[in-house]
Amino acid sequence: MEFNLTVQQKELQRKAREFAIREVLPVARKYDESEEFPLPVIKKAWEEGLLNLGIPKKYGGPGYGLLESCLVVEEISSACPGIATSVFDNNLGAEPIVIGGNDEQKERILRELVNEFKLIAFATSEPTMGSDVAGMKCRAEKEGDEYILNGSKFWITNGGYADYITVFATIDPEKMHKGIAAFIVDTKTEGVRLGKHIPKLGQRSSNTVAVSLKNVRIPKENVLAKPGRGFVLAMQTFAHTRPAIGAFAVGCARSAMEYAIDYANKREAFGRPIGNYQIIQHKIAEMYKNVEAARLLTHKAAWEADQGMDNNISSSIAKAFASDVAMEVTTEAIQIYGGYGYLRTYPVEKLFRDAKLYQIYEGTSEIQRIILARHAMKRYEHAMPSVFKRDRT
Ligand SMILES: Cc1cc2nc3c(=O)[nH]c(=O)nc-3n(C[C@H](O)[C@H](O)[C@H](O)COP(=O)(O)OP(=O)(O)OC[C@H]3O[C@@H](n4cnc5c(N)ncnc54)[C@H](O)[C@@H]3O)c2cc1C
Repeated sequence: MEFNLTVQQKELQRKAREFAIREVLPVARKYDESEEFPLPVIKKAWEEGLLNLGIPKKYGGPGYGLLESCLVVEEISSACPGIATSVFDNNLGAEPIVIGGNDEQKERILRELVNEFKLIAFATSEPTMGSDVAGMKCRAEKEGDEYILNGSKFWITNGGYADYITVFATIDPEKMHKGIAAFIVDTKTEGVRLGKHIPKLGQRSSNTVAVSLKNVRIPKENVLAKPGRGFVLAMQTFAHTRPAIGAFAVGCARSAMEYAIDYANKREAFGRPIGNYQIIQHKIAEMYKNVEAARLLTHKAAWEADQGMDNNISSSIAKAFASDVAMEVTTEAIQIYGGYGYLRTYPVEKLFRDAKLYQIYEGTSEIQRIILARHAMKRYEHAMPSVFKRDRT
């Protein structure tokens, strides 16, 4: 077992940290206040090779593994979780093509994303469904070699600026997961309407929109997964992107912890720095231990994916654990700041708002627990003989 990062991984981490401090941190508050899309920052990330991390070398990309992606997004998220979500969204949008695309699609789309500054979003969710992916209603009707899409997608990150969207739709809602197909949608196609930005609690610099599809013709070369294959492709995509959500959460929690330590060492109450009080030290110890544990789980889930192993369970554990850690650490950071934590003066207020999203998108914390309970109760291999089969005399 090896916990050290390689020289190349450390160099990538250093580069991402330097980018986060130079390009992201100074504008994080500004974009949060204005809710503008940080297009110049995302373009800079593309120029510096920090977008499209998972595109294989064969198609011109850096060919990083998921572990490397986690290193990058932890750093960007530590400066601004919202900008990190927007930067990583190209990985989410492109992942179904990386996993399920044919060679022509990969050559055409993935290479274009590397060579030109283009954004690609991902769309399973709809106004009436998010968790229940198999219950989607957006229709895909076959007409000759083409498909015609009709319906609405909702909460689509970067959707307002996307050049492409990987859209999941069903040939028949009654068929549930067996009816779902996936398509590469060029947003310039007739019938695609990208909605206005929807204001949010946190991660305000990430663009979130509804997408309406009206008689959108999809040529056969843009069919990514045939009916019945789309649901599996969506689940495989999530297994590959959930560790990165864990890494976002670690970055967010890590900054909240660091800002809490800074404040605890400086702020005085009853004649002493509050960091001298044991109850504050315990809060910081909890933060530190949980951030470390969340990072280890996240890296394990990413490492499993990079080894070609089935990381479905480890990615659910990492995502659920790290999301809860981000919420707990940012909440306690505000507590350590006292009244100042509640003001917009310090960054902990923003991190607290930003952290909440991790428990919601890419499978809520409840959905992760459903996956884990099902695994633990049905498939997990016990080491001990059953308590009911043991001789208890
Ligand atoms: C800012 C933002 C960005 C997003 N970006 C994208 C994107 O780019 N692409 C995309 O496709 N989607 C995106 N989403 C959608 C996101 O994935 C969904 O919001 C999420 O999956 C939850 O779905 P829902 O909101 O419909 O909640 P629901 O599914 O309606 O769930 C509501 C509540 O019920 C719980 N619940 C649901 N089913 C069960 C159950 N069986 N047992 C117990 N509890 C249950 C949920 O955990 C939740 O607490 C985004 C969402 C947000 C907020």
